Amino acid sequence: MKAAFAHPSSSTLSPRAPFIGVARHRIPTDGEGVTTLAAFSQCPLQCAYCLNPQCASPEKAHFHFTPQELLERVKVDHLYFLATGGGICFGGGEPCLRSDFIAEFHRLMPSEWHLYIETSLAVGPQHIETLAPLIDHWFIDVKDLHPDIYRRYTQHDIAPLMHNLLLLKELGLQDRCTLRLPLIPDYNDETLRAESQQQLEEMGFTHFDLFQYIVRN
Ligand code: SF4
Repeated sequence: MKAAFAHPSSSTLSPRAPFIGVARHRIPTDGEGVTTLAAFSQCPLQCAYCLNPQCASPEKAHFHFTPQELLERVKVDHLYFLATGGGICFGGGEPCLRSDFIAEFHRLMPSEWHLYIETSLAVGPQHIETLAPLIDHWFIDVKDLHPDIYRRYTQHDIAPLMHNLLLLKELGLQDRCTLRLPLIPDYNDETLRAESQQQLEEMGFTHFDLFQYIVRN
């Protein structure tokens, strides 16, 4: 089967972006079918229990790719993606910061592939507006919707997350979102998490992933 890979045009070439890793054959942790996770470096948050602290600095990236170079790397699994309805999951770090890169990658990739994203939504709304037509499913790392808990855990204000959740709601994309709500030791509990979930349900979100952070000292 011949793959329909588009050619980059010199006018739309994106610069290289920093990545901490590319992981193949993920079934199905972050999207339908077989997926490849492409994890960008750099994140605006500073979560207390972050497993990827190297994301804080793009200088610590392991790889740098243009969209075309990333496509060359991941297309080895083209037939797996077609057979299983899979594709690429962009993670990180914070992938929404690289919305232009993802838009260019989407233009180049075969139309049968799916795109998934694992994001905190802690970015400007222009990134979400760029990505909304391109992403098949959003895995949103909400953490906790209480502003004081969110600030204490991430060192940042909750306003960008709330704004972008409302934007996804206005775009009618709630069915394309899975909201991750962890129990965070020393930060929230079952009651507080249930309050976060209720607030999100009132916004029309219906898919939740409830789990517990395991803190290793
Ligand atoms: S959003 Fe994710 S990558 Fe960023 S600091 Fe928090 S846990 Fe780490």
